[in-house]
Amino acid sequence: MSDIIDDANERAEMFLEHSLQQHRKRTREDEVQIQIGDDVICIDCYGPIESQRLKFLPRAVRCVCCQQIRERSHAR
Ligand SMILES: [Zn+2]
Repeated sequence: MSDIIDDANERAEMFLEHSLQQHRKRTREDEVQIQIGDDVICIDCYGPIESQRLKFLPRAVRCVCCQQIRERSHAR
């Protein structure tokens, strides 16, 4: 059973990796959204961005957590 799960995880990772490579090719800038299916993926942690957040910030590229970390590190 665990083989099947590993397989699925591996495929998901490959798909994500491929998407990220495409994304890096497209731009060296950080500020372009990564979209996988209907999800927008955070460019820092690669987790899906909350749909609530996207309603307010349609061009958000980071989830709330990573945005806060980034703002904090910029505030220095
Ligand atoms: Zn994030």
